[in-house]
Amino acid sequence: MTALPPLDPTALGLVRPDAPGLARLREFLGPDGLRTDAGALEAHGRDETESLCFLPDAIALPRSTGEVSRTLALCHAGRWPVVPRGAGTGLSGGALPVAGGIVLSLARMDRIRELDLANLTVTAEAGVVLADLQRRVDEHGLRYPPDPASRESCRLGGNLAENSAGPRSCKYGTTGDWVLGLETVLADGTPLATGGKNRKDVAGYDLTGLLVGSEGTLAVITAATLRLVARPRATLTLILPFPALDAAAAAVAALFLDGHHPAACELLEEGAIAAVARLVPLPAALAGQVALLLVELDGDEDEALLDEAAALEELARGLGGGEALVAREAAEQRRLWEIRSKVGEAVKQGSVYKEADAVVPRAALAELVRAARAAAARQGLRAVCYGHAGDGNLHVNLLQGDLPDALWRERRDAAEEELFRAVVALGGSITGEHGVGWTQRRYLPLRHAPAAIALMRAIKRTFDPAGILNPGKIFPDP
Ligand SMILES: Cc1cc2nc3c(=O)[nH]c(=O)nc-3n(C[C@H](O)[C@H](O)[C@H](O)COP(=O)(O)OP(=O)(O)OC[C@H]3O[C@@H](n4cnc5c(N)ncnc54)[C@H](O)[C@@H]3O)c2cc1C
Repeated sequence: MTALPPLDPTALGLVRPDAPGLARLREFLGPDGLRTDAGALEAHGRDETESLCFLPDAIALPRSTGEVSRTLALCHAGRWPVVPRGAGTGLSGGALPVAGGIVLSLARMDRIRELDLANLTVTAEAGVVLADLQRRVDEHGLRYPPDPASRESCRLGGNLAENSAGPRSCKYGTTGDWVLGLETVLADGTPLATGGKNRKDVAGYDLTGLLVGSEGTLAVITAATLRLVARPRATLTLILPFPALDAAAAAVAALFLDGHHPAACELLEEGAIAAVARLVPLPAALAGQVALLLVELDGDEDEALLDEAAALEELARGLGGGEALVAREAAEQRRLWEIRSKVGEAVKQGSVYKEADAVVPRAALAELVRAARAAAARQGLRAVCYGHAGDGNLHVNLLQGDLPDALWRERRDAAEEELFRAVVALGGSITGEHGVGWTQRRYLPLRHAPAAIALMRAIKRTFDPAGILNPGKIFPDP
């Protein structure tokens, strides 16, 4: 992997830390709390966004909120760029140290501090791996629902900073919907707690809501208090096949109108079905289908879920859909889910790709897929779409195929811009869950009016007047 030249920190009013500065950090972080070895710099210079890599000057690995505070105070005094980091699974380049400086990794702050069964809350540090948190609450028959597909590796702080989501956000909402309070540290090292365990609290502005989804640009999150719910007693998964995209899209709108509220409602269009069929053997009933909806139902009673599945099949058949595949047993459900969960890997296996995280109002799903195909075709590319249909949020993958690199980059950018223009015209947005980060920032003006962007920049300046926190992210160059 080739490291790219960093943004010039001096142009941002920042400087890269010098050796004596790093030595001062090492004094209280300890020898294993500040890393400058080439391997660590390279590993923390990238995330899961394309093959981008920007080398930082050092990685700080604090063990407590107090150490985060001291680290930030020193960085602030020195005007050093600081990039908060979870697991580096981000898909918009949010954790890339594009101006060099300090990567502030929360990986060693991974304790679950309190499981409060009386209030149904859990308080955990930002570095806890999401799946570990979910397994812990599951032992008590409870659920913390947000379920990004990266849950075995991504960390809570990254989920909060991106307001991440997953298939179950269809019924349960995004990460932000589960946050009651945050423990954070401001750019100058000042600790700031927001919210708490109250279910309702309208005293003043909603700082918790502002910080969730702020992509590491306003404060460093060190811990969070989250709501929990009882785990549903029964789940059922079904796949509804359709001979046409419009029929599948119409079924999505119709099932909600009919009063159903599935835990998940995921769409695979033609190209995604063909791709996943190369990795996972598809049941014969799905052969030749043009669109699939994978629906998960949950509730108290198996029988009630079976009745609901029958009602959904009837609704789908009324729109031209075929026979539903229904899975009750856990192993069968996993087999159906594999068709959805392997699709990303399958699509990306054969080609270099660029993933756009487009979201539109649910009723515009079919138009979104058509816009993606048209934008790609105009540039001689192919677009493959799949994702969270219940949320109107599809991952559009533009594929390089056998185009030469230079031509690919040019055409990819042109297709992506055309797609986002179409998405915004449909009332949608340039990202549903992956964040703006580094790679989508040039599209922010498509989504927001100049007055809104000016207000966001003013909020950034209020939280972080020196601009040390995650410089170069979210906002396009002035
Ligand atoms: C295979 C795969 C599947 C994925 N599936 C999904 C999915 O289904 N849904 C989804 O929403 N996303 C998905 N993602 C994207 C990614 O996993 C999420 O955005 C995740 O929440 C990032 O967490 P992280 O710990 O890796 O954060 P990082 O990548 O380390 O950081 C992400 C952003 O958060 C900031 N940040 C991190 N920690 C903190 C903190 N403590 N305080 C302040 N800012 C912080 C960083 O500066 C950066 O801007 C997927 C990624 C992969 C690779």
